[in-house]
Amino acid sequence: MQNEINLILKPDFVQKIKNGYPLLSKEFIEDWSEVTQEGSIINLLDKKKNFIAKGYYGLQNKGQGWVLSLQADEVIDTNFFKQKIKAAIGYRKDFFADTQTTAFRVFNGEGDGVGGVTIDYFDGYYLFTWYSIGIYELKEMFLEAFKQSVDFQGIYQKKRFDTKGMYLDDNNDFICGMQAPAPLHVKENGATFAVYLDDGAMVGVFLDQREVRKAIRDKYAKNKTVLNTFSYTGAFSVFAALGGAKSTTSVDLAKRSLPKTKEQFTINNIDLNNQNIVVEDVFLYFKYAVRKKLLFDMVVVDPPSFARSKKHTFSANRDYVKLLKEVIQITNKGGIIVASTNAANFSMMTFRGFIDKAFKDLKIKFQVLESYSLPKDFRVAEKFKESDYLKVVFIKKLH
Ligand code: SAH
Repeated sequence: MQNEINLILKPDFVQKIKNGYPLLSKEFIEDWSEVTQEGSIINLLDKKKNFIAKGYYGLQNKGQGWVLSLQADEVIDTNFFKQKIKAAIGYRKDFFADTQTTAFRVFNGEGDGVGGVTIDYFDGYYLFTWYSIGIYELKEMFLEAFKQSVDFQGIYQKKRFDTKGMYLDDNNDFICGMQAPAPLHVKENGATFAVYLDDGAMVGVFLDQREVRKAIRDKYAKNKTVLNTFSYTGAFSVFAALGGAKSTTSVDLAKRSLPKTKEQFTINNIDLNNQNIVVEDVFLYFKYAVRKKLLFDMVVVDPPSFARSKKHTFSANRDYVKLLKEVIQITNKGGIIVASTNAANFSMMTFRGFIDKAFKDLKIKFQVLESYSLPKDFRVAEKFKESDYLKVVFIKKLH
């Protein structure tokens, strides 16, 4: 068993941790110097040396580690992780039973009791994503716990931390079991996605947008001309086409988006004739659309929270209003704008403020039809609601 290191919590944060707040922010602890190795188990004590919580040390942008337990006698071992994993699987019972959807999240970090790691399910295969060296140091126990709790075809992993030259022996995304076909075809509400578990940082689909895609297909797309900006592999376009869109136009800067988007259309038996795929900077495409007086009945806008292209950098927090104004100008009166962001550094209220401002500046009226945040499988900790980063608003452009 590992040595556990004692750290003293500042008095202001004791109650917060006791109440179930899971993140260990740098400011919570006066003196971090006792702990040097990521993956160390730490006991958080108050000034009088009373036990408050147990967690691990792991450096992420958001903080220095995560609380794992409020019980002094908790041992952080395979058995501990097993309980968390079993509970997480149980929580997704309905997803496992749904034959129309075979891709979803089964473990969502602190939402399922262990911050810094997520597990996604892709039709029998499991993809682990590690967000710090700290959790990666604990991975043997966590993986063992998983293998003892779950039947699987194969296991893959992504490392979302700076490896600093460590772990070079272990550069493979495939961990064990059977290798998945490439592409692996998974289902989402009856549609099909091609995913690649071992082809770079992203697998081809963002599972957190499942409900938004369904809404686009089932409630909005029929007979519409649809523009999908920052389209990646065209997942929104596929659902729009399946929902009866007159045409779709998918715009993304990345060259790979062209073959990837074609592939998603093709495996869903969608006629490519009415689907345009444009490899271009979205901001240049807006200029082109204005020049050509193009207007769309529905525009989906889901930019990365931060991106650098040749011409400029985009930051959702700073530039979303400007982006929306461009979108509004190429949307038909009565048309729908699906405004989405995964930026964790501002709230839904702030986002709604951006929408207000963009329309007000253009002196155009609008109506918010509905909004979405993370779906149920992306479980959020009760005391850490701010980790629900997804904000999607369906807006009708009036006059
Ligand atoms: N909406 C997509 C996910 C978008 S991921 C979906 O739901 O599947 C962000 C995408 O934006 C990436 O594919 C990236 O290539 C693209 N991107 C980033 N900056 C861009 C720009 N200036 N113009 C066009 N695409 C851009």
